[in-house]
Amino acid sequence: MRILIVEDELDLQEAIADGLRIEGYAVDTCDNGEAAYALLYEVNYDLVVLDLNLPKLDGLEVLAEIRDEKPELKVLILSARSSVSDKVRGLDVGANDYLAKPFDFAELEARIRNLLRRRFVQESSMLSYGVIKVDLSKRIAVVNENAISLTKKEFALFEYFLLNKDRVVSQEELIEHIWDQNADSFSGAIRVHIATLRKKLKAILNYDPIGTKIGEGYFLSDKEGDANA
Ligand code: CA
Repeated sequence: MRILIVEDELDLQEAIADGLRIEGYAVDTCDNGEAAYALLYEVNYDLVVLDLNLPKLDGLEVLAEIRDEKPELKVLILSARSSVSDKVRGLDVGANDYLAKPFDFAELEARIRNLLRRRFVQESSMLSYGVIKVDLSKRIAVVNENAISLTKKEFALFEYFLLNKDRVVSQEELIEHIWDQNADSFSGAIRVHIATLRKKLKAILNYDPIGTKIGEGYFLSDKEGDANA
């Protein structure tokens, strides 16, 4: 999942970005409203953490500008303006959540997780895939109580496949949602991570769960034989 952090207090921006990267998210950052506006048109983010008091273009203006174009985009406003009217205004303009500064990182992370999973998972952060149980909040995959050792990128790929399991996902989409702007996003790197994920899953499931559609992308298949469709 790819997140944009728009925050002009650079210490805070860096702390949030580092914390979210540790949790396995792909994170981009910028420090003013104009840059945010440009990035939001360029990249299909899954979620934006948006400060309100920003240079060049105010956070609420950024949000109002993009809201019509990006109805699916999750927006969490982060602001020192903690009065009730500011909160109501932010939510009116189309924010999905609002967190007043100062805040606990754990709370921010929990709210982000909740927003990202809301459209897919109603109550629980547990998903299962065959014999594999996936805990999205703890970011682990387990078979018979034994954790499968997946790297952050492998887990992010597996999670993305699970959350989009009814369709083919293109390589470009994976790059956009799982790698950030600083990362080595050459397609070769993706293929390497998919290959290692596939190998680990195949060892447990006894079949290859990641199908390839030539020229289109990858899909999660739940039975043997699907994988070469
Ligand atoms: Ca600010």
